[in-house]
Amino acid sequence: MQEQIKNILKGIIHPETRENIVESGVVESVSQQGENVVVVLCFAKAKDPFAQRIKSMVEQVIVAEWPEFEGKVTVAVKQKEPKAQQPKRESTTTSVGKIIAVASGKGGVGKSTVTANLALTLRNMGYRVGVLDADIYGPSQPKMFNCEGYLPDAVQEDGLDYIIPAKSLDIELMSIGFFIKPTDALMWRGVMATSALKQLLHQTKWGGLDFLLIDLPPGTGDIHLTLLSEIKLDGAVIVSTPQQVAVADVVRGVEMFRHEQVAVKVLGVVENMAWFTPKELPQNKYYIFGRGGAESYAKEVGVPFLGEIPIIQGIMEGSDEGTPAVATDAMVEQHYRTVAERMIAEL
Ligand code: ADP
Repeated sequence: MQEQIKNILKGIIHPETRENIVESGVVESVSQQGENVVVVLCFAKAKDPFAQRIKSMVEQVIVAEWPEFEGKVTVAVKQKEPKAQQPKRESTTTSVGKIIAVASGKGGVGKSTVTANLALTLRNMGYRVGVLDADIYGPSQPKMFNCEGYLPDAVQEDGLDYIIPAKSLDIELMSIGFFIKPTDALMWRGVMATSALKQLLHQTKWGGLDFLLIDLPPGTGDIHLTLLSEIKLDGAVIVSTPQQVAVADVVRGVEMFRHEQVAVKVLGVVENMAWFTPKELPQNKYYIFGRGGAESYAKEVGVPFLGEIPIIQGIMEGSDEGTPAVATDAMVEQHYRTVAERMIAEL
């Protein structure tokens, strides 16, 4: 049984060393415990950026290639070097001009869509922009920027490992989605997701950015805590739809950033899906989710109002096709430019 599993694992190649994980010694042991199997992986480097991805590949490949195997596969990860031997690492975000988190109370309000289009608007204004997609529950930036399936390369400089972001439409993109499959989502929650985020935050080799936008998961959770404790944010943008704006989740989001121990400036609220205009009646605006909610909410809690984005079919289609609408539609860009200009004024 052990040999059969080792043979299967020979099919997994470490993206950096380009060697299979059995012959290169990453697979330290495969042992049988009754019906079940325990695989111990041992990585030569502390914090190997590919460790978690290889761990999840091991789990999946055994199930996929040996359907008759009915036991459980447990994979443990170890590292050879003690941490102290690693040179001290400075986060790669220290070279970024402004780091802005994009957050929302609930999912589905268009936070990721706003992040992608805001990134492109800033690019159109002449800034160098990166997006870090930290939405572990639904990393959608790779699809929106047509980079699904991108396998980040790792490089070494002065004994430190860096991960290379994808590039699309002039935007540098790193996503937690590059390291997981949609079906992995559950196992990436909690500790694994936060340690992966730390690596992406500190090891991504950005190319001299003016702005880094971080697409956060909805709500307030471990990922938010990790982000707030690992790096200094320059501000946060809250995205809401008109009917979601006054609900407790949004209020909690604002308070999370404004908390005295965190003290991140809330740059403002963006009201997404503010109204609908049918193509055949361009003068008509239908406020199907109510009107002016976000603006009055912003006043009430004392945060700026950054602007409104209407419901436009092209916004949805652009994201689905891998080219966010701002790249192709000047009308959409106009709405986003107002948001971007007000946001910059707040920084
Ligand atoms: P979140 O990141 O908040 O979960 P998404 O950005 O994934 O939300 O958006 C949810 C859905 O709504 C997507 O299908 C997206 O294309 C669509 N969408 C978002 N904003 C708009 C808009 N202004 N007009 C039309 N569709 C939109």
